[in-house]
Amino acid sequence: MEAISANLATVCGRIEAAARAAGRPAEGVTLVAVSKTHPADSVRAALAAGQRVFGENRVQEAIAKFPGLRRDYPDLKLHLIGPLQTNKVKDAVAHCDVIETVDRARLAEALAREMEKTGRRLPCFIEVNTGEEAQKAGVLPEAADAFIADCRGRLGLQIVGLMCIPPEHEEPALHFALLREIAKRNRLDQLSMGMSADFETAIRFGATHVRVGTAIFGARQTAAAAAAK
Ligand SMILES: *Cc1c(COP(=O)(O)O)cnc(C)c1O
Repeated sequence: MEAISANLATVCGRIEAAARAAGRPAEGVTLVAVSKTHPADSVRAALAAGQRVFGENRVQEAIAKFPGLRRDYPDLKLHLIGPLQTNKVKDAVAHCDVIETVDRARLAEALAREMEKTGRRLPCFIEVNTGEEAQKAGVLPEAADAFIADCRGRLGLQIVGLMCIPPEHEEPALHFALLREIAKRNRLDQLSMGMSADFETAIRFGATHVRVGTAIFGARQTAAAAAAK
């Protein structure tokens, strides 16, 4: 748990240095600490060290972990960064503060209905599949402009920016540049991009949110490794 505090300090230092090198203020970059698969005690260690923004990729895991933490730290913010099924929209809107993975009309419609009903109008990012990978979520780059317009116009969602997860074995900078370009022409100023391996590059390309898990909380257990214990 002491490692988490030290890791956080290291990551924050690297964010500051990358921002400075890019001629940007460090406050312009929000660290989203990705706590998926790690226990609530690990999140607590990060909270004790001053971290307030977290990311989870599964709604059920967020519900299991975060309500107790929120009681003790009412100012924490939880970003949903994983694929969202429409049957989990109600729970997602109730338990998260930002939805980063709006990627299709059916989901956007379900989110708009639920936010209207509950009055919880959460900021949303649209996920763009910049690598056009078949197995990956996200709207295709060529469909992004129309989808963004539909989400903002017809559905009235509060779209604040774009998010991407570049293909594993490609130069991430090309994908970060593409995401920045799509955001710029749609007048969106927030970019969620960059993970443990490439957040400094992402900051160079304008990331306002970096999603960092491993560099803070350590390696995640695979399901196989957990079962072998
Ligand atoms: C797990 C995850 C991250 C964090 O990845 P690390 O390499 O552990 O920093 C970031 N974004 C998304 C969408 C993730 O699922």
